[in-house]
Amino acid sequence: MRFFPFLLALFLVWNLALEGAYAEMVCSDCRQPISGTFVRMGREAFHPQHFACAACDRAISGNYVPHQGKPYHAACYAERFGERCGTCSRPISGKFIKHEGQSYHTACFQANVAPKCDVCGAGMVGRYLIDPLGNRYHSEHRIPLCTYCRRVVSPNTSKGGYTYADGRSVCGLCYPQVIRSDRDAIAAVEEVRAKLADWGLDVPQNAAPLKLVDLTTLKQLMRRGGLHGQNVQGFTSVLSETRGGQLTRREIAVYVLNGMPREDFMGTVAHELTHVWINLNASKKLHPSLEEGACNYVRSLLHSESGSADAERNLKAMQDDPDEHYGRGYRRAKAYADRNGLPALLTLMRRGSAFPLGY
Ligand SMILES: [Zn+2]
Ligand SMILES: [Zn+2]
Ligand SMILES: [Zn+2]
Ligand SMILES: [Zn+2]
Ligand SMILES: [Zn+2]
Ligand SMILES: [Zn+2]
Repeated sequence: MRFFPFLLALFLVWNLALEGAYAEMVCSDCRQPISGTFVRMGREAFHPQHFACAACDRAISGNYVPHQGKPYHAACYAERFGERCGTCSRPISGKFIKHEGQSYHTACFQANVAPKCDVCGAGMVGRYLIDPLGNRYHSEHRIPLCTYCRRVVSPNTSKGGYTYADGRSVCGLCYPQVIRSDRDAIAAVEEVRAKLADWGLDVPQNAAPLKLVDLTTLKQLMRRGGLHGQNVQGFTSVLSETRGGQLTRREIAVYVLNGMPREDFMGTVAHELTHVWINLNASKKLHPSLEEGACNYVRSLLHSESGSADAERNLKAMQDDPDEHYGRGYRRAKAYADRNGLPALLTLMRRGSAFPLGY
């Protein structure tokens, strides 16, 4: 679709005075000789009152449009020969829009042809935005996407939404799934802990306190630990004291982002509890690709069992993650477990420190 200005070659009527060279002229309209002033068009001459529009037959003064040897008022020309609007079929003058070979008044295009904005319902001319769920909307709305499902947040697209004090936006479709009470959070954590135990990852309840924090606090904690992350959802901190090469004290704490939808919360807990398990069971420091990859692999087991739309979204995010450790590491851990089984992956983490050749 393109904007075009409406352009016409307009000619101005000149009333010329008769001079010697034109002495024998006759009017092309009435065929009577011309004396005094006349109008010239190409080789023809007219009495000014006989220089008439070929469409409406009224005399032309001022501008005209020549067409196949005949003059027309600009408006009469547009009416008879000009472009017509593809929806109202009235002639087009001024600015118009060309779309798939058809011309439209800007207003007609906007009302009848242009794609409708999913946020405000009005037609969209020119560039627009599209969210990962396929909602199309005017770029000038400047509204956020849901931090979780990535929908554009508005009454029409997501039943509205909420903005947290830490800057996150949660849409009205995700919000009912958000874990809001400590009781629900504790129950969800115990559910994850039981699943991990079933899979061979025992994480005793007293191994690490788990705290819910907002995004601002989580980022501060990570920065203090020298870590950075894009979409941080959780963080496991480990404080170790050694004396003479012997471990004398170890404090593990798990921080999980509050206000997340249940599936995202449980996935994050699964990831962080796997870190705790690694800290309790690994004999060597693991390469971050193996550690983060395995934590995300355990997380993926939980999402695969759940099978909800939120779980699918979480799985896809990990599958598509370009990050060396969280994304590629996850795909390597999955390949290793798919071929050798989960117990072999756990043994690798207990005794080894990195993926063997071939993964
Ligand atoms: Zn005449
Ligand atoms: Zn006319
Ligand atoms: Zn129109
Ligand atoms: Zn709009
Ligand atoms: Zn959402
Ligand atoms: Zn991690």
